[in-house]
Order: sequence, then C-alpha cells, then structure tokens
Amino acid sequence: MRRRIVAGNWKMNGSKDLVKQLVGAIREQAGSVGEEVEVVVIPPAIYLSQVGELGAGSVITGVQNVSQWQAGAYTGEISADMARDMGCGYVLVGHSERRQMFGETSKVTADKVSRVLSSGLVAVLCVGETLDEREAGQAEAVVAEQVRQGLAGVSAEQWSNVVVAYEPVWAIGTGKTATASDAQAMHSEIRKVLNSMKAPANEISVLYGGSVKADNAAALFAEPDIDGGLIGGASLKAEEFISICRSF
Ligand code: PGA
Repeated sequence: MRRRIVAGNWKMNGSKDLVKQLVGAIREQAGSVGEEVEVVVIPPAIYLSQVGELGAGSVITGVQNVSQWQAGAYTGEISADMARDMGCGYVLVGHSERRQMFGETSKVTADKVSRVLSSGLVAVLCVGETLDEREAGQAEAVVAEQVRQGLAGVSAEQWSNVVVAYEPVWAIGTGKTATASDAQAMHSEIRKVLNSMKAPANEISVLYGGSVKADNAAALFAEPDIDGGLIGGASLKAEEFISICRSF
C-alpha cells in the first residue's frame, strides 16, 4: 500500500512558542491519528531541531528547501546532508513559491531532487499549474512536464523515496480548493506520467495541496489516487491540522 502522508508546510511562519504549542498538541493527540498516517512537520529550518526534539516519536520532520550543491561556499544555503544529519526525513522541492519568487527553474528543481535522493531523504516534488494555464486548457500538459523534468534523473532504486505533491497555484493560500474530482483527475494523470517514465507509479504517493482544510480533507483523501495532503495555512492551527490527519 502507498504511504499516507499529511505534511504541514509552515512556510516562513512560526516562533519557539508556536513550535511548543503546535508540536505539543500534535504529540498529545498523536494516538488519535491512524497508525498508517505519516505526520510530517516542515517548519522553517532554524526550528528543525526544536520540532525534532518535541515531536520525537510522533512526527517526522522535513525542510522546505535545500541547496542543489553538496557543501561549500554557498552563503545562506543548507544542504540535504545537513537536513539528514538533523534527523529530517522529507524535503520539499520546487514549491511554486520557490519557482515563482526565487526563480527556481526546472533544471535547479531536478538537481535538488537528485541531491535529496542521494542523501537518502524523501523528495517531495511540488507541481501545479497557474490559473492562466488552467483556463487555457494547459493544466495537464504543464503538470506532466514538471513531473517529467523534475524527476528526470531518478534512478530505478530511488523511486521509493519520491513523493509528488500536486498543488494548483491558484488554490494555494487562496481558500479555493480544487474539487475532489478535479484533483483526482490530475492525480491520475500524474500516475500515468510516472508510469511512462518506468516508475513504479502505483507505489508512489501523490499528495494534494492548496487550501486543504479540516472540512474538505476527507472528500479529497477519499479519492483513489490522493494519498494525503500538503497543508499550508491550516497546518498552523493545531486542532485543524490534527483533524486533517484524521481525515482518511
Ligand atoms: P495552503 O498552502 O494550504 O495555505 O493553500 C499549501 C502549500 O503551499 O503547500
């Protein structure tokens, strides 16, 4: 069976106090979340060790970005090896905010995926179309190309550490969610693309992201090709995040 994952992407939000409050609440209620669900907390990297210590045994930690380079004179960057050294399991790669605001190209995204996989961590490749692309009828083509390019360098034995997150850009932080059936249709397309790349498509988790909330998670997660969620805004509210984790 594919892994079921609920990952909270805190983006550039948080503080020591918020870590205590949120991770404390998740730890207390971890028993109410299905055993098969991987609960992942992805704070700003500076809080990684605090999240790791407080959440030990109940959450897996992740980082929102790493460098495409291994080590050296890259001021301000952190490496995939460092993330692993700090006990981190997951790395987001190619989030639309990285692509749009930091100019990350498909090439950089693919290099980061390779770096993450070489470090033995799980790479969560984020893909998704803009509103203009959707309205022009190009959503499937855009997403397919992002999947193909981002995962072009994955070797046969690395697929087990690949997760794809479909996040339509128009749904991120906007309160607009793709309908469960539109999301399902795209997830099924993504699986076809993975299949065409000779990946074990039925074993790769594909998460949905974009305004997932406690009240829409269950409908999304009930779809056959939606294996969990990447949660932004709602991951900053303990009760709501836990309720999403329980929505399978
Ligand atoms: P959102 O963000 O849940 O706030 O829409 C999702 C994401 O960007 O990962």
